[in-house]
Order: sequence, then C-alpha cells, then structure tokens
Amino acid sequence: MSVNVDDVLIIGGGVVGLSIALELAECNLTVRVIDRARVGQEASWAGAGMIPPGEIHFENESYRKMARLSSQMWPAISEKIRERTGIDNEYHTCGAVIVTSSSSQREAEQQAWKKQGIQTEQLAARDCERFQVAPSVCEDGAYFLAEQSQTRNPRHLSALKQACLLQGVSITEHQSARLIETRAGKLTAVITDAGRYQANQFVLAAGAWSKEFEQSLRLSLPVFPVRGQIVLLKTEGQIKQIIEQKKRYLVPRRDGRLLIGATEEHVGFIRQNTACAVRDLIQFATGLAPSLSEAAVEKCWVGFRPGSPDKLPILGRLEPWENGFIATSQYRAGLSLSPVTGRLMRQLILNETPEIPLDDFSSNRFS
Ligand SMILES: Cc1cc2nc3c(=O)[nH]c(=O)nc-3n(C[C@H](O)[C@H](O)[C@H](O)COP(=O)(O)OP(=O)(O)OC[C@H]3O[C@@H](n4cnc5c(N)ncnc54)[C@H](O)[C@@H]3O)c2cc1C
Repeated sequence: MSVNVDDVLIIGGGVVGLSIALELAECNLTVRVIDRARVGQEASWAGAGMIPPGEIHFENESYRKMARLSSQMWPAISEKIRERTGIDNEYHTCGAVIVTSSSSQREAEQQAWKKQGIQTEQLAARDCERFQVAPSVCEDGAYFLAEQSQTRNPRHLSALKQACLLQGVSITEHQSARLIETRAGKLTAVITDAGRYQANQFVLAAGAWSKEFEQSLRLSLPVFPVRGQIVLLKTEGQIKQIIEQKKRYLVPRRDGRLLIGATEEHVGFIRQNTACAVRDLIQFATGLAPSLSEAAVEKCWVGFRPGSPDKLPILGRLEPWENGFIATSQYRAGLSLSPVTGRLMRQLILNETPEIPLDDFSSNRFS
C-alpha cells in the first residue's frame, strides 16, 4: 500500500497557515493544513481586521518593510480571492483618526509616517463633526491617517479557506497535532489524535499554541497567549473611520456594526469576557463618540494573540531541523502581515532568498 506524502504539511489553519498554504499550492506543491478545530476560528477570526499602511512603533527595519509590503499586497489578494470564491472580505481603505496623548507625540508620529512616504493630516476641534466624535478627541493630539485599511476577519478567513480548497490544499479539520516525529535531523510526520501524516517539509503555524511543540522539537519556543476582548455594537453607521487611542480602537464595518477593542491580558487561555473589561471598552467608546450610547450591544468575544518576548514575529527555519519552518507570534499584526508572511515563507520553503531578510525573526534568538 502506498503512503501519501505531501510536499508540505502546515500545523494550524489560522490566517497565517492558510496564507502560506495558498502561496505554496499556487506553485503546484501538494499542501495539507491540519487544524484541531475548524480552520480560521481562533485569533484570526477574533481580530479587528485593521491593516495599517506601514509600521512606526517598532524600530526594526525588516519588520517595517514587511508591514509596508503587506499593506500594499492586500488589494490584489482581496480581489483574487473574491474572484475565485465569490466571497467579498470587505477590504477597503477607511482611514483612521489617531488620538495621541500630546501634541509632541502627534508630531513625532506624523513625522515617522512622513519618513515612510505616508501622508497624515493634523486635526482640529472643528473636525469632530466630520468624524462624529467628541470635540475633545480632535484637539491638539489627533491626526488623520487616510491610508488605514481594514478587512472583515470572518469573511476573509472563509474566502481564504475556499481559495485554498479550490487550489487543491487538503484541509484536515478537527484533528489535534499531538507530536512531530523526527529522524536523523529531519521532521518526518505529524501524529494527530486520528492519524499519522507524512510530508517532505513542515510548517508550524499554530498561533498562540505553538509552544505545545517544544518537547517534540526539543526547542525553546517562548510563544504565549495575549488575550484580547472585543465588544460588538450595532450602530446607525454614524462612524465611518477607525478611531484609535493607544491600544484601544473603534472599527466600523460597512453594515453599521462597530467593534470596540481590545484588551491586552496575560491570563493564559481563559476563554471568557470579563465584566470590567466590557465596561471599560464601552466607556472608552462612548467617551470618544457619545452618539454610540444608544447603540445595541450585539456580542462580545475574546481571542488569543500569539505573543513573543520581544513582540516580534518568529518566522523562518525551525533550526536545527532541516525541513522544518515556523511562522507565528505576529502578536497584534498577524492579520495585516499575513499576505507578506505567506509570500516570504513560500520563498524560503522553495529555497529562494526571501525578499525581506528574516534573520531578526529567527526562532533561536531566544535560546
Ligand atoms: C482582539 C484581537 C484583535 C486583533 N486585531 C488585529 C488587527 O486589527 N490587525 C491585525 O493585523 N491583527 C490583529 N490581531 C492579531 C491577529 O488576529 C493574530 O496575530 C493572527 O490572527 C494570528 O494568526 P495565526 O494564524 O498565527 O493564529 P490563529 O488564528 O490563532 O490560528 C492558529 C490555529 O492553529 C490551530 N492549532 C493550535 N494548536 C493546534 C494543534 N495542536 N493541532 C492542530 N491545530 C492547532 C488553532 O486551532 C488555530 O486555528 C488581533 C487579535 C486579537 C485577539
């Protein structure tokens, strides 16, 4: 009896695993994605879907290049998967009002965007009507970032899954990868609770759960969950732009729904919303935009961002395993970085030189 051996096996079918799978399958490789639940239902589903035009908060040059290139890839990828699947991920450039804590911070941020060739506009109190926010929001510390985009996570993940299936990717759901078998410096198979899957190359993309494979890989993978809570409102659609203040934000969808996000909590995998976080998020939203006070609360949820000690992704070869790769810990930016992650991982797996160097994201930087 012949045994099926895929070219590439990917553990984890979040936006990262599926984006890599699609890139590889488009190069005619046989690809399998294994997920312990349905693909695309964890952090990638739970996130807010914000896609900034670049990155100004991390100094790392490669990371900044990734953020810029990824944002430029979004329109074409969205169009491609929409054409193939008929599912519209609602990618669009909506702009964002960024509220900083002082005029000097605003100036520094505007300067940082300008250096990357991205235009911003200083706001004044009179702009509050234009954005439907409280007058205090548009005082000295606020600016408008016109190039900020967004996508609707559940729709993007559905489209990506369908695009993968149409491209011939085997998606194995409801099977938990328990162990990675190794022999003579190579990874040989993934053992799930229902079977054994062989492949020539392996990618670990299990998001916040990637640490579970430390033992079978005999590696240190300091990946941890950072819980984020979100509240969903049903509004009259008065807010059209994203509004961000420090780590919290309002993200309006096209149908009037509005996400209020998000907390950052180090509480492990406790899957519940808490009363104080929901209260704080709602207070934050109604403080920024008092007209939201009458909006209906539709639902709340949590998601687990994959974090790393230096908040940078872990991307690249899974050294010392010759045929192992890892793509995780994109933390707060895993969705926006997913197009470039798929492309760079495809280049690496096909033994090409990635167009952006991945050295700073190596998995052994923590050992
Ligand atoms: C509240 C919140 C808001 C966010 N907002 C944004 C945003 O606006 N913009 C942005 O870019 N990013 C945002 N993020 C971050 C982004 O969602 C994540 O970085 C990204 O989704 C990570 O993708 P992933 O594929 O690595 O992980 P996940 O989507 O979590 O996927 C991992 C997959 O691995 C599977 N898995 C785990 N263990 C196993 C196993 N043993 N066997 C088989 N399968 C396994 C899981 O079932 C899951 O499907 C946000 C996150 C949260 C929580």
